[in-house]
Amino acid sequence: MISENHTSKLNNNLLGLNVKSLTVNRHVINLFKGMFAVLPITWALPVDALQVKVTPNNPQLGDTLSVEINLDNQENGTNLTVASGKNTYPAFKIAPNQYRAFVPTTPLEKSGRRSFQVTGDGQVQNLAVNVQNRKFPVQRITLPPGKAGVDATEYELKRVAAFKALETPEKYWNGVFLRPNAGRMSTNYGVRRYYNGKFAEDYYHRGLDYAGGAGSAVIAPAAGRVALVGRVSQGFRIHGNVVGIDHGQGVTSIFMHLSRINVKEGDFVKAGQLIGAVGSTGAATGPHLHWGLYVNGVSVDPTPWRTNVVK
Ligand SMILES: [Zn+2]
Repeated sequence: MISENHTSKLNNNLLGLNVKSLTVNRHVINLFKGMFAVLPITWALPVDALQVKVTPNNPQLGDTLSVEINLDNQENGTNLTVASGKNTYPAFKIAPNQYRAFVPTTPLEKSGRRSFQVTGDGQVQNLAVNVQNRKFPVQRITLPPGKAGVDATEYELKRVAAFKALETPEKYWNGVFLRPNAGRMSTNYGVRRYYNGKFAEDYYHRGLDYAGGAGSAVIAPAAGRVALVGRVSQGFRIHGNVVGIDHGQGVTSIFMHLSRINVKEGDFVKAGQLIGAVGSTGAATGPHLHWGLYVNGVSVDPTPWRTNVVK
């Protein structure tokens, strides 16, 4: 601090300036300091620097943050990790010397600064982005006394959790995601709820609902491997008849309440391929399609994936 003030005064005197604006003054200080600092800073840089970029530029809650890492040296890609908060996310190869990790954001988190630590073979790079707040609609649900709704079965929970935890290194999707049903969107992502006047802290609508008629076609929004087929008869009480598609690299889609299923586990589907039909199986009050998009096991807003290409 003292040294800066001194430098500033010295600098102004040297240049014969009478600088009043703090901003201009700071700029002068930096220029002055820069003359002496250039060499040591250059020497301090690692030989194979990690170049990291986070997109989108102005994310909001529900967005998928894409952390792209460019390496000068391919060998540094062997142990790449991206950490944010308490979580570590896998980085997958997307091009020669290029890796990418997805960091999900949700309505349950606070908006504001989000910091990342990218680590690759002895190098560490810290960076931060600002995640903007977003107003999510609120629903008020009244349940009759003593009726808390249907409970999922243990089998159902186990199968769905295993599906959402998939981290397949291959990337199957290509281009923007398609709308999985022709019906109008009836409930948006992220809607919060009050049950009998009490705010449900952990609840948010984990996907998009489409009000397509019973029996209307459900198509794969993007290519992938069918990694989950579950039926009411097996105990899928909440999900109903359900299909899960693994798009690869930690990205999965789940389709709930189906009346019919046209695929089996292990099938590879193309974008636009018929996978089933809209129904009201499981915990559904009427026919609709629920599409949930998960990134590293966390439900994100599918809408940006519908409008922007995530390469
Ligand atoms: Zn839904």
